[in-house]
Amino acid sequence: MENLLDMTISEMRALLKKREITAVELASFYLKRIERYDNDVMAYLNVTEDKAHEMARIADRKMEQGEDGPLLGIPFGIKDIFCTKGIETTCASQILKGFMPPYDATVIKKLKDASFVHLGKLNMDEFAMGSSTENSSFHITKNPWDLTRIPGGSSGGPAAAVAAGLCAAALGTDTGGSIRQPAGLCGVVGMKPTYGRVSRYGLIAFASSLDQVGPLTRNVSDCAIVMNEIAGFDSMDSTSIPQPVPNYTENLGKDIAGLRIGIPKEYYIDGMDSHVKKAMEESLSIFEKQGAILIDISLPHTEYAVATYCVIGTAEASSNLARYDGVKYGLRTEGKDIADMYKKTRLKGFGKEVKRRIILGTFVLSSGYYDAYYRKAGKVRTLIRRDFDEAFKSCDILITPVSPTTAFRIGEKTEDPLTMYLSDMFTIPSSLAGLPALSLPCGFDDNSLPIGLQIIGRPLDEALMMQAAYVFESVKNIEKIPGAFRKEYLL
Ligand code: GLN
Repeated sequence: MENLLDMTISEMRALLKKREITAVELASFYLKRIERYDNDVMAYLNVTEDKAHEMARIADRKMEQGEDGPLLGIPFGIKDIFCTKGIETTCASQILKGFMPPYDATVIKKLKDASFVHLGKLNMDEFAMGSSTENSSFHITKNPWDLTRIPGGSSGGPAAAVAAGLCAAALGTDTGGSIRQPAGLCGVVGMKPTYGRVSRYGLIAFASSLDQVGPLTRNVSDCAIVMNEIAGFDSMDSTSIPQPVPNYTENLGKDIAGLRIGIPKEYYIDGMDSHVKKAMEESLSIFEKQGAILIDISLPHTEYAVATYCVIGTAEASSNLARYDGVKYGLRTEGKDIADMYKKTRLKGFGKEVKRRIILGTFVLSSGYYDAYYRKAGKVRTLIRRDFDEAFKSCDILITPVSPTTAFRIGEKTEDPLTMYLSDMFTIPSSLAGLPALSLPCGFDDNSLPIGLQIIGRPLDEALMMQAAYVFESVKNIEKIPGAFRKEYLL
């Protein structure tokens, strides 16, 4: 059954449909792999084995009764930021330890309606604050391509699990790059949809004007299949967009002749890793050979994006995280009075990076500083968005690297938060502008570490981005590039 690892979701569905495999067997295949390899990778926080078997049995029963569906019986891993009814949800924080959500996030409900199989909750940076998963308060997840390196973050668990074949697909979230950067560093596909395209009801909030839910998958067609199931308006999420969802698989396979691709000069910088630069050049020439037109453009306010994000992201986080006070959720540390209890609970329950952001965020929102920082950041955000508006007058999509480097070593940047923040310099601007952006494997460096390419689209233009990504993926055939971990993990 090892070739299951190379199968797309629709190929697995075809096997299930023909009864060549049952959903229970498929779930067991992944659970066995988790048992065998997750001691190394450490992608999971909680493997919900019994639930997985139960859901797989239900899926089998449904298939016996003639039911069909694109995700019926497909095993997923879920970032531990989504509320899952009756399954502990921690956001990788001590402060939420033991928290059992009384309801499912809308996206989980949608996956359940599609009869998916839930393998477990995946590791992440605490409250999604980080770029390496080293900020998880439980353990560090490793990059399956090189266990001495980070998988990226904050959705490091989902990216590593998909890359190492520890689930068929995963759900993550992205505030400033948390789906795309780990996807890029682990060699999988990750998509941050347009702000408002996917419901965030039941998602633990970090920065509410930025957070968005999206899939991490082995390839582009799986990404489209998952998007078909999770996208759409939700009356429980006031920021969700009331527009119909197109069929995202419909355009896969259509050519891209005449597609206008913008190449923003601010994303091709001197400090960029030479392998990343080379992979980008080769990739752009593939798009050109497929008939796309490359257009040099400029997004002049790019250099202010990381600073703007640090103000907006921390401000919103400080406000969102005020709810963890020892009364409503998870951890509680008793004190001499209620204020002391709040203080002790928060002191003990939050990790270093989360505290840093709460302090910074409270500062930029405080009276006297609000105009200088928060309001100003909002204005710069508008300028960044206008740069993109201007670019999309002459381009259909933009292509940039996902990260300036490949996966760095565990511990390399933990003492230097600023350098860590800068690893998101290419993913943050499109987040601030609310645009959809997708990360796609495009090559390897000399150490066989994956390199990611980012496609940024117009609002709600995910279908076109996936169409372009699919063409590239088919031509490049990245699976054939000899990778380091696959051989080892295929045993
Ligand atoms: N790495 C970025 C941060 O630390 C983005 C995180 C995210 O998108 N959730 O904030």
